[in-house]
Amino acid sequence: MPPEGGITRFAPSPTGPLHLGHAYSALIAAQRGKPGGFLLRIEDIDQGRCRPAFEAQIYDDLRWLGLDWPVPVMRQSDRMPAYCAALQKLAGLGVLYPCSCTRGDIRAAMSAPQEGAPVIGPDGLVYPGTCRGRCMAQAGADDALRLDMRRALSLAGPVSFVENGPLHSGNHCLDSDDMIANIGDVVLARRDMGTSYHLSVVVDDAAQAISEVTRGADLFDATAIHALLQILLELPRPSYWHHDLIRDEHGKRLAKRDDARAIAAYRAAGASPADIRAMVNL
Ligand code: GLU
Repeated sequence: MPPEGGITRFAPSPTGPLHLGHAYSALIAAQRGKPGGFLLRIEDIDQGRCRPAFEAQIYDDLRWLGLDWPVPVMRQSDRMPAYCAALQKLAGLGVLYPCSCTRGDIRAAMSAPQEGAPVIGPDGLVYPGTCRGRCMAQAGADDALRLDMRRALSLAGPVSFVENGPLHSGNHCLDSDDMIANIGDVVLARRDMGTSYHLSVVVDDAAQAISEVTRGADLFDATAIHALLQILLELPRPSYWHHDLIRDEHGKRLAKRDDARAIAAYRAAGASPADIRAMVNL
């Protein structure tokens, strides 16, 4: 794997202990970055699920693995003003609308006889568009904000991104009709947090001047949303390196609740950093 020589990042959410899959992701990002170009970002917008103890364990496990990064570390919980500014810019472009639908409302709308089979996109059920006619002046404190995908694409023009990773390497040009049908009007500001993963990740990758985003292949499909937001927000366009996922012996991808594969558990059992590298084939 030739190093990219740029600025890369590892962006964990402190909602559980780091496991082998995270170690793999962090080590790949560090390999791809230039010296001093590996950055850490704590993705803690979901304050209901994030815990200070998990954040402390992230720093400790990564240092133990031999990684080093510039400080202070960017933490998304400090970045609400930047996310609000991005939302305002999108609202100014006329591509946002407020949405009051609950998951139950969406499921009920999808089961109406005129709707075809529900489509599951990178963000879950593709939204049926119930609130699309509402304007931002009607937005209330309990509303989420959604991206009007059709309008956004008509403003943005062609959407593409460059993938450097081995799984899907090449230039990916996205088809608008496909994005409307299979991604749809994603939520950019959740009612409980005022932002979303998609919005924050795009704003922060730009703020940290990331030149190559390294992360798991489970986020490959979401990259179309990120490339579109980069165009609308006039942000620089990083390239991407999506890596394969570490799976257990049954082929299931590791989850944070799988404590047996937590780095901390391997450390407690006497494993060395070299053992961890060997376990993930690095
Ligand atoms: N925070 C995300 C996670 O822990 C990673 C997001 C990204 O790398 O874009 O899964």
